[in-house]
Amino acid sequence: MGTRKFIVVGAGPAGLIFSILAQGDVVVLEDHARPGWPPHCTGLVSLATARRLARLAPQAPGEEYEAVSFYYGGREILRLGGYGVLAVRIRRPLLEEELWTKALEKGVEIRSQARVRNILRNGCVEVAGENLCGDLVVASTGASQDVLPSKHRLWRLKGLQAVAEAARRPEEGVFSVVYHEAVSPEMFGWIVPLGERRLLVGLAAASRAYERLTVLLRMADRAYGPLRLKHYYGGTVLRGPPRPRQVEGRILYLGDSAGMVKPYTGGGLYPISLTAPMAAALASEGREGSYDAAVSPLKRQLLAQYRLTRLACMLGPRGAAAALRSIRLAGLEDEVSRKVDYDSHEELLRMLLPSAHRLAPGIAAGLLGL
Ligand SMILES: Cc1cc2nc3c(=O)[nH]c(=O)nc-3n(C[C@H](O)[C@H](O)[C@H](O)COP(=O)(O)OP(=O)(O)OC[C@H]3O[C@@H](n4cnc5c(N)ncnc54)[C@H](O)[C@@H]3O)c2cc1C
Repeated sequence: MGTRKFIVVGAGPAGLIFSILAQGDVVVLEDHARPGWPPHCTGLVSLATARRLARLAPQAPGEEYEAVSFYYGGREILRLGGYGVLAVRIRRPLLEEELWTKALEKGVEIRSQARVRNILRNGCVEVAGENLCGDLVVASTGASQDVLPSKHRLWRLKGLQAVAEAARRPEEGVFSVVYHEAVSPEMFGWIVPLGERRLLVGLAAASRAYERLTVLLRMADRAYGPLRLKHYYGGTVLRGPPRPRQVEGRILYLGDSAGMVKPYTGGGLYPISLTAPMAAALASEGREGSYDAAVSPLKRQLLAQYRLTRLACMLGPRGAAAALRSIRLAGLEDEVSRKVDYDSHEELLRMLLPSAHRLAPGIAAGLLGL
């Protein structure tokens, strides 16, 4: 087999990790001029995911969090953690900057301000009036599906965040998840300390994201304020489901464009840290045909999370909060804290199933508003 040629569309973490690890000639086509811009992500991942990303981008992992605190109706309903690092914040766009530099050092050709107009199943793409062809096109365009040959229906929310300077210092190493009908009927809000007195206050919702963020900022202001707002940013938060087929003709879908996200939080970095190296290894050997089978255990995991997320969404913020509060009421907080894994949300349910009888009264009481 001669040198393989790969065309990677999109220089997000998925496309860049693939391009660094693939053996062959790699051309990356990126719409924007700067790596990772405009920024959109909170960057929370598990310690295991942070370590995988750090192999290629050692500076990217930032603050570590040992606990997560859940709120509903202005009150803390549950706190999990206290057994080591629960989550790490990956600094974006520093992640993309490091990956971009590494790719260039490896000899990858990166064309910025190169918006691809069309991706074809025969391994060609249309860019700047020319047709560029390779053995494989990696479609890593993130949430945008405009140029993909087959559209996949994805569950989309609007994510919006504000960076603020707080008057009162937030508790170190603890981030908060806020359930509230006015903040997000479909998901939740989050308040993440960024060190010193800085806070990241954000949410994802199907509509009226600015209005809802104002509500959440008012809550944060009561707890840590007065807040001084620095800047806003955001983007599309995807909740899956995964594409049923991730290789079609000479196209391999990677990252958000493959619907490979943790649906409950919209986190895409965990699946990318696993799938991009796998895709690069198989494609380098001309075995991308085996990719679908290789990722099927992860796809099944994300699909299970997707179904649970749909259920949680039907329960609404009050139902989700009642379920979480019941963990505390049943005295299971410590056991769950010991075992909880930021990547495997479906495991939490599996862990709790044998104790369902202890949780049921708390859930019922919570739903009835007692
Ligand atoms: C508000 C918010 C908070 C989030 N928080 C977290 C979190 O805490 N943890 C987590 O794991 N994930 C989080 N995510 C999700 C995470 O950001 C994504 O899963 C991740 O960025 C996906 O990486 P990617 O490489 O697939 O796509 P992206 O990072 O979106 O990169 C896609 C790239 O493709 C380029 N592109 C698109 N179309 C074209 C085209 N036609 N031609 C050329 N280039 C193109 C874009 O410019 C972009 O650079 C969050 C997302 C949002 C919006």
